Amino acid sequence: MINPQSADVVIIGGGIVGCSAALSLSRRGLRVILLERDTCGSRSSGVNFGGVRRQGRTIEQLPLAVRAKRIWDTLPDYIGIDGEYIQSGHLKLARSQQEFAELESYRERTRDFGLDLQLIGPMTLRQRFSWLASNVTGGSYCPQDGQANPRLVSPAFAAAARRAGTLIFERFTVSGIEKLSEEFHVSGADGSRFTAPNLLNCAGAWSKDLAAQFGDEVPLTQGYPAMAVTEPLPFFIPYSLGVCGSEVYCRQVQRGNVVMGGGRGIGLTDSTSRSTAEMLQTLMARIVRLIPSMRNVQIIRTWSGVEAYTPDKQPILCASPTTAGLFHGFGLSGAGFEIGPAVGEVLADLVIDGRTETPIHTFDLQRFTLS
Ligand SMILES: Cc1cc2nc3c(=O)[nH]c(=O)nc-3n(C[C@H](O)[C@H](O)[C@H](O)COP(=O)(O)OP(=O)(O)OC[C@H]3O[C@@H](n4cnc5c(N)ncnc54)[C@H](O)[C@@H]3O)c2cc1C
Repeated sequence: MINPQSADVVIIGGGIVGCSAALSLSRRGLRVILLERDTCGSRSSGVNFGGVRRQGRTIEQLPLAVRAKRIWDTLPDYIGIDGEYIQSGHLKLARSQQEFAELESYRERTRDFGLDLQLIGPMTLRQRFSWLASNVTGGSYCPQDGQANPRLVSPAFAAAARRAGTLIFERFTVSGIEKLSEEFHVSGADGSRFTAPNLLNCAGAWSKDLAAQFGDEVPLTQGYPAMAVTEPLPFFIPYSLGVCGSEVYCRQVQRGNVVMGGGRGIGLTDSTSRSTAEMLQTLMARIVRLIPSMRNVQIIRTWSGVEAYTPDKQPILCASPTTAGLFHGFGLSGAGFEIGPAVGEVLADLVIDGRTETPIHTFDLQRFTLS
């Protein structure tokens, strides 16, 4: 039992958002305590698909995504490991004229963000990727998007934060939070208490109740992206692949396994989930429609994760409108691995500077409470 320990900031949640915020705050000289119910990076941040892509994001998310890209590009310096991050490129595929028109339109609308999108027509596609099905008629290639291993990257953010001075308490269950005068008092089931004038709500799919406790109501729901990985195959997919509509996506790691996702699994308990047999059959059928040679490959492992979704699929990233010193960073809606490191930096900006240069007005939670 630790009693009471004070800091400048207490962070609840040791996913990529909480750990990145901790790292930034500690590097900028603040005393930081991070509390994680399980182990850092054990939830969404450590079990995701590993897509590190800007292509396909909403215009509003691109400034965050571009800021995050700068972190990804310097990952070994930033967190001490490369996390198997590679700029493999991200290829988004179209299966109709209408989908290709969507890709063209996206390229026009995002020209200012340096994505360098290259449209690929059917002839070139066929020449370069003979393994794609004939119903794939075009694509948009983002050369500097990539992929990484979330099981390595997310815990490494925690390790880097610890080296920078953050005190991390894992397997710590928060049993109570109250604000008395200018200080938040956070207590644990074992009687430990932590106090700080700033509190960061980075509790992922479990952030809703914490926010509501301070009058910040968010219509957050939990979702469970279905994932699977195949046996090792001869290497043939050089890029991370997606399709318009996002019903399926896949990438092949250097060891040869093809990691794939699409559709939803089911929740088992409040914090566990899995893919279902029906979803996996659908997923395999979708993959085979895209890459016919995948017809008889073996799936060797399946999984899912508990993710926080907002109704508009945009994150919550803001200072609390009701409570001074409280900041929210959650609701990354199935796409927070790439932007997570920047979300953490922005939270540090908000705590220390009271503002950030990255435009985040779209992510204010008052979009749900004031409408
Ligand atoms: C299967 C899957 C595939 C995905 N694929 C991609 C992808 O390819 N690319 C991409 O960009 N994004 C992807 N995502 C989304 C991305 O993983 C998430 O958006 C991101 O990791 C969210 O990070 P987080 O820190 O907000 O949440 P989390 O990683 O969930 O971290 C929140 C942490 O808070 C802790 N916590 C909760 N309540 C408490 C409490 N009371 N006390 C202490 N700790 C608490 C939890 O234990 C958890 O560790 C995927 C997600 C899933 C599930």
